[in-house]
Amino acid sequence: MKGRNKMNNSKIANPIIIKCTCPMCKTDAFICVDAFDYGDWQNGKHAQDAFPYLSANEREMLISGICPDCWDKMFGGNDDE
Ligand SMILES: [Zn+2]
Repeated sequence: MKGRNKMNNSKIANPIIIKCTCPMCKTDAFICVDAFDYGDWQNGKHAQDAFPYLSANEREMLISGICPDCWDKMFGGNDDE
């Protein structure tokens, strides 16, 4: 074993990749979460508590599958130039 193996950027002890397909544009996104956090979330924990390391966009994709682009189209609505 080599020492000095600094864990960089890794709050995720048991990473699993969740594939989310946007129902609007069919874009696939892959979101990395901890397997235990995912289990907690499926058991009713709030996404923001279960996945504090994800961005709001990533959590939204996990919950609804809707990608940030489609979210903007649906709720952005700020189109004046
Ligand atoms: Zn989309």
